Amino acid sequence: GELGDEQSGLVIAHFGKQIDVEALEGDHRGEIIRCHVRANLGSLVTGDRVVWRPGAEDLGVIVAVQERDNLLQRPDKFGQLKPVAANIDRIILVIAPEPEPHDNLIDRYLVAAENCNITPLLLLNKTDLIGDHNRAQLEALLQRYEALDYTVEQTSMHTAPEDDHTIESLLKNRTSVFVGQSGVGKSSIISRLLQDSSIKVGEVSQSTGKGIHTTTTARLFHLGLGGDLIDSPGIREFGLWHMDIEHLEYGFREIRPLIGHCRFRNCRHQAEPGCALREAEEKSEISPARMQSFRRIYAEIEASDWQNPAR
Ligand code: GDP
Ligand code: ZN
Repeated sequence: GELGDEQSGLVIAHFGKQIDVEALEGDHRGEIIRCHVRANLGSLVTGDRVVWRPGAEDLGVIVAVQERDNLLQRPDKFGQLKPVAANIDRIILVIAPEPEPHDNLIDRYLVAAENCNITPLLLLNKTDLIGDHNRAQLEALLQRYEALDYTVEQTSMHTAPEDDHTIESLLKNRTSVFVGQSGVGKSSIISRLLQDSSIKVGEVSQSTGKGIHTTTTARLFHLGLGGDLIDSPGIREFGLWHMDIEHLEYGFREIRPLIGHCRFRNCRHQAEPGCALREAEEKSEISPARMQSFRRIYAEIEASDWQNPAR
């Protein structure tokens, strides 16, 4: 085949060594081109912005990759961090009245997001299940995160889609991923969004019939409302992996500025004299619930480090 001009593209899916790129300009604009990657580029992920050119036999060649704004990573089964998706604007952490949210779990997701340098926000789904028995508790929980400057929204998949402008406003003009514990409604939200979409990029690339790896690879979808969604089962569970103490301290927004201010450099923030965290806690600058959650994750990390000294 003839060699074509170089042009910009967006990685929307992975098929083993081949990658689907959406052309962002030129004659092919909006088309999905399956591409090889030049060996020197390293591993590319969904969401990467690239430069490609048409090559032989309808296959393109990716010749360059733009610097990433951020990178969402997950550990593989050996605990090695692997890149999953790039250039994400928001991590939407979905919670629900049922299954009941655990502070500890919410905070773990937030810590992971903060460490990837991606803005997390909270979406309470299943508001139809809020009643007198759980309202006060849920409101207190949401207020705790709003006080930390996290955006908090509410929705229900049991209301009509046309009444649901909450999710629309969250996703518009952004690249987002949904994460959260199983059963909170992530698949329900995502399938509603994809139903409303004019372009289903994932479907287009499937129609080529070459290798469908829906279980592991992240896919990028353009949403009808304007905005992109990157999704895979792995992304939905993002955050629930081993982290170390430095990640934990950094990942708590209100604790981050206090790090390095304890009297002892190796302070474990328990009963040590001159602990900056404990002093902030006593002045009510850190909520008791968050501090308790911090200590609990801290203890879990210490216990697992003791079991896996190699880490
Ligand atoms: P995922 O595991 O987070 O992907 O959760 P699913 O989307 O599979 O949803 C789990 C269950 O919650 C399913 O039975 C859904 O029908 C149900 N569900 C999802 N959204 C809502 C909602 O807004 N209200 C109620 N009552 N149930 C919902
Ligand atoms: Zn301390």
